[in-house]
Amino acid sequence: MQLFASRCKSERKTIGLVPTMGYLHSGHMSLVKNSKNISDYTVVSIFVNPTQFAPNEDYNQYPRDIERDVKLLFEQGVDAVFIPDPETIYPKNYQTYVEVENISKILEGKTRPIHFRGVATIVSILFNCVKPDYAFFGQKDAQQCAVIKQMVNDLKLDVEIKICPLIRENDGLALSSRNIFLSEQERKDALVLNKSLQTGKEFIGKGERKASIILKEMEKLIASISSSQLDYVQIVDVESYSVQEELKDGTEYYLLVACKIGKTRLIDNIIVKA
Ligand code: AMP
Repeated sequence: MQLFASRCKSERKTIGLVPTMGYLHSGHMSLVKNSKNISDYTVVSIFVNPTQFAPNEDYNQYPRDIERDVKLLFEQGVDAVFIPDPETIYPKNYQTYVEVENISKILEGKTRPIHFRGVATIVSILFNCVKPDYAFFGQKDAQQCAVIKQMVNDLKLDVEIKICPLIRENDGLALSSRNIFLSEQERKDALVLNKSLQTGKEFIGKGERKASIILKEMEKLIASISSSQLDYVQIVDVESYSVQEELKDGTEYYLLVACKIGKTRLIDNIIVKA
């Protein structure tokens, strides 16, 4: 991978990297399209990163289908697919981790304390292997985008981060590799995530500016689905990713939801202007 990257560099070509954990869907493919639009070469990495999963999480169960993914990617015209082994990335005596402090501790980071340390570490390693000019991430994982942007700024990494829109099914469910775990009933129940976001948006549209009131309405809707187990609903500033109590007119916010449907943990968000 490093040789390929060096060769591209010596040709003065730009490289776009799309980091993924595989089991690809149209959300991933939209990142690939964005990369192909502006990069000379597009590299997609597929790596289910063990250091971002806690022992009680679904590292072993995470869906994998490398053959299908690779076929899909070459049909789409990507230039290289990087599929390292866990032992290559993290050899026996591996000791180095990247920690982005404050932003990694709230929301997703509260429920998943080691998650963003693993993410920042693997993304740093991928940047060093692929040497991208651009790296593409999905708004679906809004906090991950904020963590990566913070890391790139803090460490002065020479890569431009591009955030791409969240892709949904026709009925509004955010595409996720984990949707495969949902039963037929749970698949229907899972629509409550997007519905709760739309409810929040409606309240903001009607002029409500108190986060607690907006969030209560969203919580009520989620509680009406018996298979749901809410982790959090929250409103954060798009720029700073800080939690807001009172919204300001003209400012953009992420409405966020994280919720289990049955045993499957799902996240979703929308951007709303107050
Ligand atoms: P993952 O394979 O889940 O680690 O995701 C790889 C990349 O695809 C991340 O940058 C995600 O934010 C992005 N992604 C995942 N789902 C979607 C989606 N529904 N729409 C847009 N991007 C997505």
